[in-house]
Formats: sequence, structure tokens, C-alpha cells
Amino acid sequence: MATARKRVLITGGAGFLGSHLCDRFIKEGYHVIAMDNLITGDLKNIEHLFKLEQFEFYHHDVSKFVHVPGHLDYILHFASPASPIDYLKIPIQTLKVGSLGTHNLLGLAMAKGARILVASTSEVYGDPLVHPQTEEYWGNVNPVGPRGCYDEAKRFQEAMTMAYHYHHGLETRIVRIFNTYGPRMRLDDGRVLPAFVGQALRGEPLSIFGDGSQTRSFCYVDDLVEGIYRLLLSDCHDPVNIGNPSEITIKEFAEEICGLTGVELKIAYQPLPKDDPQKRQPDIAKAKSVLGWEPKVDRREGLERTLEYFKKEVIQNQTV
Ligand code: NAD
Repeated sequence: MATARKRVLITGGAGFLGSHLCDRFIKEGYHVIAMDNLITGDLKNIEHLFKLEQFEFYHHDVSKFVHVPGHLDYILHFASPASPIDYLKIPIQTLKVGSLGTHNLLGLAMAKGARILVASTSEVYGDPLVHPQTEEYWGNVNPVGPRGCYDEAKRFQEAMTMAYHYHHGLETRIVRIFNTYGPRMRLDDGRVLPAFVGQALRGEPLSIFGDGSQTRSFCYVDDLVEGIYRLLLSDCHDPVNIGNPSEITIKEFAEEICGLTGVELKIAYQPLPKDDPQKRQPDIAKAKSVLGWEPKVDRREGLERTLEYFKKEVIQNQTV
């Protein structure tokens, strides 16, 4: 007799990261239930899965009561606007999905006896005063600044998740995700990589906020998914950073994108947005020791794969 597939609910399943997680869990032989209200996601990210009987999609806002029929082994809570351009437009939905949405999913995990992994972020460190950021650092967040709606929603999410772990004994996991990139990002999502690629492909100057000396580190999506998969199956209920520690200034990154797209570097300097972090680099010692994980895809290779996607999906559709 065939053994029953394990069942996983992925919220935010039609988004950039959620859709890659759906692919990975299908590949691993799971029954995948994606749930999304499509506020920033797109069904085209998962349309290739619709024909599979081991895949289901629920169009639903997880900040409202969440019901899923049948057994669940795992829940991955990835629903949330993630790019500043999105969460600054919908700050209240962002706060709600991190708080009410997380509460609903923790309740669902209790009811189903499922293990839950929540997607947190390097933004819980705010504009960090410690570099690189270890999981022990408590962060430097302005709760009433423009980014507060996202950062504090995620900090609340972590606190609520730990409370369910300690108070109810729920099996919980928390991943602190650092900037991740790859196919299925939206060109117009305002994050630096799609913004630079879009501008380079249109022959426009690249917008650099501030003098470009601020640093970021970029993790390719396949590496991130591998880290999340390992964390879910690990025993670790403390938060774990997953990201690529290879750091680059924004100015150097602009040069790299122009090099890869074969265009001459032109820069339009703009004022630095309020509370923009100056430095961001994960310390991944914990992921290495607890999960045996480290990133494998170097930036050049990851950027080439991503550029390929943007060219195919976007330029052919003339929507750059
Ligand atoms: P995304 O915007 O592509 O995906 C988020 C998905 O959640 C979208 O499909 C959106 O429609 C859905 N969603 C939002 N609110 C919802 C709600 N109330 N109910 C149901 N669905 C809802 O963003 P992403 O980059 O894929 O990010 C996914 C998760 O990872 C988010 O929780 C984000 O905070 C976290 N994260 C991402 C990054 C990154 O670099 N991409 C970094 C840190 C953390």
C-alpha cells in the first residue's frame, strides 16, 4: 500500500519565496496546499502546479479565520508583503498578517498537531549596531518610523511564535531571512535588484539612494529554500539567520548589474530614505553548525539565472 503523502500548508504560496517552496515540497513528495490572497503575489508563479493532484490552492486572507480541511504535518507561514514599496502602501494589512495572521496559523498548527515555521526577516535587526548580525543581537528598530509596520509585525510574529512554543509546547521554527533574489521576483517590487535590472534594461540611469556606500548581501533563492527545508526538519526552535554573507556596496552592485546586462553605468543619486539600514550582513555560524547549511550559488551565477528570467518573462511580454 502506498504511504500517505505528508501534507504541508504554505501561506503566501503565490509569492516569490512561497512559490519556490511549493516547488521544493512537491519535488520532495509532499501534498502541498498553497494559500494566498494575491495582494502582492501572482498565480502565474504556481500555475504550472495546478495540474498536479498533490497540489491545492486556496484564495484566502490569512488575517481572517483560517480553515483547512484534513490533516496537516507542517505549516510554513510566508504570507506578508515583503518589499518596502508594498508594505509602505499597505501598512495595516502588513501589521495584520504578521500579528493576526500569525496568531491564526499558530492556532491552526495547535489544532492540527502540525509543526510551524514562520518567515521572519533581517529587518528585525533594524539599522543594526552590531555587524555582522548574529541571532543574539536584539536589533535597533524605530517602531514609529515608516518601516515600523513591517519590522515590528515580524518582531511580534517571533514573540508570539516563541510564546506558543514555551506556553503550549508547539513545535515552532523561525527563519530570519536576509535579502533573497531569483526568478519570480517582480520587476516593479522596488527592491534594489529588480529596480537596477529594470533600469539597466530600459537604458535608464540606476537609482542609488544616498552615496551607494551602504552594503547589502544577496542570497540566491535555491540556497534559501535549502536552508528553510533543513531548518523545518531540524530540532532548532530558536531563530536562525539564513542569508549569504558575501557583502557588497550598492555602488559596486550597480556596476555588477551593468556589467552583466552589457550597459554603460549611469547613476541617478537620490536622497537616502528614512531609517534605511547602512549595513546588512548575516552571521550564519548557527545555520552552519545546526543545519550544516551554507550558500552554494555565487552572486554571478545567481544573477545570470535571474537575468535570464527577467529577459524571458518580462522583456518578451514588453512590460519592462
Ligand atoms: P511576496 O510579496 O512575493 O510574497 C508574499 C505573498 O504573501 C504574496 O503572494 C502575497 O499575495 C501573500 N500575502 C500577503 N498578505 C497575505 C494575507 N493576508 N493572506 C494571504 N496571503 C497574503 O514576498 P516574498 O519575497 O516572497 O516574501 C515571502 C515572505 O518571506 C514574507 O513573509 C517576507 O516577510 C519574508 N522575507 C522575504 C525576504 C526576501 O528577500 N524576499 C526577506 C526577508 C523576509
